[in-house]
Amino acid sequence: MSPKVLNGKWLSKQFEQRLRLRVVSEKEKLGAVPGLAVLLVGEDPASGYYVRTKSKVATRCGFQTFDERLPASASFDDVAAVLTRFNEDANIHGILLQLPLPASLPENKLLDLIDPEKDADGLHPYNQGLLARGDALLKPCTPLGCMHLVDLALSDIESGEGELPKHGLPRGDLSAKHAVVIGRSILVGKPLVQLLLERNATVTTVHSRTAKIEEICRSADILIAAVGRPHLVTSGWVKEGAIVIDVGINRLEDGSLTGDVDYDAVAPICQAITPVPGGVGPMTVAMLMENTFNSFLRSITA
Ligand code: NAD
Repeated sequence: MSPKVLNGKWLSKQFEQRLRLRVVSEKEKLGAVPGLAVLLVGEDPASGYYVRTKSKVATRCGFQTFDERLPASASFDDVAAVLTRFNEDANIHGILLQLPLPASLPENKLLDLIDPEKDADGLHPYNQGLLARGDALLKPCTPLGCMHLVDLALSDIESGEGELPKHGLPRGDLSAKHAVVIGRSILVGKPLVQLLLERNATVTTVHSRTAKIEEICRSADILIAAVGRPHLVTSGWVKEGAIVIDVGINRLEDGSLTGDVDYDAVAPICQAITPVPGGVGPMTVAMLMENTFNSFLRSITA
């Protein structure tokens, strides 16, 4: 079987192009543009790369960007002061605190300081609570990106070619589908479960303490891996004809990037699969832009 390769690079470009037009139109009407602020603490090279990418895409979308760096030695108060300034700045509609933070800083306490209306990654407890209730203001970017990739898998749209149809990506029917999510982090695994439930999928979460994990994964129509272990998922974990979404980003010793899924072993048996890189990663960035734009719209209609 030759799988449908879910080209996240292409799909994210489609979102970006549409968003750019909407930003131009709002600017003409209102004379204002969305503002995205990103705070990076420390010198982690991967985080530095992600932050630069996010700012570049935001600029391409026509946003105003506000980038701030703090050294790894920054205190709680230093980080809190920047977040407070971002909260109070009316030109900023989306705030992203790049994770992970240096180990000395309490991640959750700092995320709690972000204004929930500007919480572009949807990680504030207020937004996580609304998500559990089924009416979130802002949904976490990576899970949101995964859902669009599932929709792409279920559509008859050729991935990587031409433009999305005018009405956008059709929402696939997930009723009667069994989705298995590997990983239970607040960033990916847990919110993903909520989004899949909202769409009527039957959902199972598996994690590091799950027994018979392979067997459970093998019953999935949709298998999403968000672990951080290179090639954990091999062909024995995947049902023939499944949709496989690989969130993992792992750097190998030779410097190359790979996912949690053994792509070469799994691709021949599945219906659709995301590559790493070029699958979930670009969609995460695209969703950050969508969230910021939606916060911008909410701020002007408030
Ligand atoms: P995390 O470390 O917070 O969570 C990992 C989860 O995997 C945990 O819930 C743990 O229980 C589970 N786990 C660990 N070992 C396991 C095993 N052997 N079997 C089954 N489950 C196991 O990580 P995270 O923040 O959720 O990120 C997961 C991966 O996704 C990482 O590689 C990260 O870099 C990547 N990521 C990618 C994007 C993107 O945009 N593509 C965004 C966020 C995270």
